[in-house]
Amino acid sequence: MIIKPKFKGFICTTAHPKGCARSVKEQISYVQKQRSIKGPQNVLVIGSSTGYGLASRIVSTFCCGASTIGVFFERPASDNKTATAGWYNMVEFEKAAKEANCYAKSINGDAFSTAVKEQAIALIKKDLGQIDLVVYSLAAPRRIHPINGETLVSSIKPVGKPFSSKMIDFHKEKVSEITVEPATDEEVRQTVGVMGGEDWEMWIEALRDGGVLADGATTISYSYIGPEITYPIYREGTIGKAKNDLEFSAKKINTGLSKLGGKAFVSVQKALVTQASTAIPGMPLYMSLLFKVMKEKGIHENCIEQIYRLFAEKLSSSTIPLDEKGRIRLDDWEMREDVQTEVLALWEKVSTENVAEVSDVAGYRNDFFRLFGFGFAGVDYDEEQDIQLDIPSING
Ligand code: NAD
Repeated sequence: MIIKPKFKGFICTTAHPKGCARSVKEQISYVQKQRSIKGPQNVLVIGSSTGYGLASRIVSTFCCGASTIGVFFERPASDNKTATAGWYNMVEFEKAAKEANCYAKSINGDAFSTAVKEQAIALIKKDLGQIDLVVYSLAAPRRIHPINGETLVSSIKPVGKPFSSKMIDFHKEKVSEITVEPATDEEVRQTVGVMGGEDWEMWIEALRDGGVLADGATTISYSYIGPEITYPIYREGTIGKAKNDLEFSAKKINTGLSKLGGKAFVSVQKALVTQASTAIPGMPLYMSLLFKVMKEKGIHENCIEQIYRLFAEKLSSSTIPLDEKGRIRLDDWEMREDVQTEVLALWEKVSTENVAEVSDVAGYRNDFFRLFGFGFAGVDYDEEQDIQLDIPSING
């Protein structure tokens, strides 16, 4: 099959196996050029197939030499439909881990379910014994609650009052206005149910009760704060309520883990193009401006640079620097005063007429295509592709 990108809103419904492989290889090659890290040896990454979770699995493997188990929810190829990008990422990741003599096994299923938690615990017991780092990096549109069976749906809306903002159609480079109506209390509750900390707590409890958490084990999950212009839709919106809940869960997990000498952290990361973040109204325009400013200052990072810095400079430090709310801050460069002042000035003046010049919309769009394996130099996009690729540990 010859694969071209096909869009449905902010999602691309096709993925290119060779391009995804190239993306994973580039990330591995970046970390291999950095110094290795004395870090965790047995790592469970929940949400390991794309974005920050994929970067966490790559740094664990190729910088720390860790054995990893990855959990994700991806679709394999069918007769005439490509697999999802995360599937192809995991095909390449497992191949590269094997070449590096690192253990890597994967579970493709619903991480919110009890069955997948039990499957992970059984696999850890059989192959690794115990885990010393659990990365919780899920971004999901819905969750079936494992106890009462309720389907909870996440929505990205402001709370209390409507939110009007500039936005960009990054395909057409058109800047317009959007107004998003506020969420109902029910939508807030359901978003917290999906993206809050309950499932993270359930994972840690299940792993601990299953006897597979090592003494001194660490767990980490990712959060976002961002600048005031995005507060109504992010930090003070439905997703922000969920992040508050996640951050509160870190405290509860910490208390539980302290008996094992373990610790739970939330790390606040930089805004980056991932499948999850493109769905947030206003964020693509903010990121296009942010990337322009950060690239000009030479401080732009992608997921892999962010996670390498997290492992190398924060997690492996004997006293991990935390903010006043106990969080690790990897958004330090994004939130620098000089960066934010410039972004805000650009935000005020950006329009359809000047967007190509004052923002990095081209870079944003490029990153978006790359999520699905498109736009990599050296990949022949007119070549026939075998789309039926197996993830070795699942069905190889
Ligand atoms: P992503 O969409 O790239 O990755 C989501 C991962 O979750 C994938 O591996 C996917 O397969 C997995 N997943 C989704 N539903 C699942 C399910 N039911 N069962 C098993 N796996 C499932 O997202 P991302 O942007 O890397 O987000 C990861 C975390 O990082 C989130 O908590 C997000 O809020 C946080 N974060 C993201 C940004 C950003 O700008 N992208 C910034 C700061 C923090």
